[in-house]
Amino acid sequence: MRLVSGSTGAEFTTVFGRGLVGELKEFVPRPYLVVTMDDLWPAFSDQFDEHLAGAYCVTTLDRAQLEVDAASLPKHRSIVGLGGGQASDVAKYFSWSTGAPLFQVPTAMTTNAPFSHRPLLRDGGKAVAIGFAVPEAVYVDFDVIRGAPPLLNRSGACDVLCYHTAHFDWKLAHDLGKEEARWPYDPEMVADARRSYDNVYHALDDIRAVNDAGIRTLMTAHRWGGAAFHNAGWNARHMDGVDHAFLYSLEHVTGKHFIHGQAVGLGIYLGSELQDNDAEAMLATLHRTGVDIRPEAMGVSWDDAATAMRQLATYVRFADFWFTVADARPVDDGLLDRARERLYDTFGAWEA
Ligand SMILES: [Zn+2]
Repeated sequence: MRLVSGSTGAEFTTVFGRGLVGELKEFVPRPYLVVTMDDLWPAFSDQFDEHLAGAYCVTTLDRAQLEVDAASLPKHRSIVGLGGGQASDVAKYFSWSTGAPLFQVPTAMTTNAPFSHRPLLRDGGKAVAIGFAVPEAVYVDFDVIRGAPPLLNRSGACDVLCYHTAHFDWKLAHDLGKEEARWPYDPEMVADARRSYDNVYHALDDIRAVNDAGIRTLMTAHRWGGAAFHNAGWNARHMDGVDHAFLYSLEHVTGKHFIHGQAVGLGIYLGSELQDNDAEAMLATLHRTGVDIRPEAMGVSWDDAATAMRQLATYVRFADFWFTVADARPVDDGLLDRARERLYDTFGAWEA
């Protein structure tokens, strides 16, 4: 075994297969709590039995509310996280709160949340990562994943394609003498992330088709990315940059929640424009994923997205986000006009 560098190391035990959900009730400690979403639970509830302690359906990522909810969960000896990023994160938070062993079953490929140690929650308009949980295993069922809406699955690619903008931001911080003392620029970490990026890039057609090869490639990339935050000493510099800052700013501006990778996808494109970093090529790559990154496709307007960009420099200091291009270059009307034109040229005009 070879430890390549600071961002590659232990990853969660991951099992690919079929018929995996129905098997859980035979081996998870009883009684078990299922943390899921109310739109998913009816499709899976009949695969559990009388040892079910209860099904907790996630409605919030608010840390204070989840702390209250964790204190009133039904008695349980294990937790099954069944869903996308939100269910995975809340399942981790509850496992950390109650000490019950965790079994993760992602139902879509939206984010690397099932493969990461710390739940990403919200606290007073800021993203916070509080808690720590290592699942006994992560079960990736090809048929379960394929049953999710295509947008959810395809959008997961954007949570890897964002390494493009993240790497530019980390290098920019380094070149301007603005990098954080605990996160000095590390070309080996960047190269590790780039390998994962390249695997996803070359499998974009399979991922878009959500076939077995695409599922295996994207979930393997998520498995690397989820563990890399811990493996790199709680450093996500090689994975998240202005792309994620845009998502959080858009949430802050609109008060809405988004499909993670879809909003990050728009952040990758707008961030690439701000960075002057292969923006047109990235727009073409994003288009290939099959994810519609027009603001209207995520229930907001171009003006909302433009406002999130105009306020980005202020927002990142409010949120104490690490140094990115948002701190270095102002967002002006010329940039927004060009971005708007290219975006709608590529994806077409929005028709209500
Ligand atoms: Zn992400």
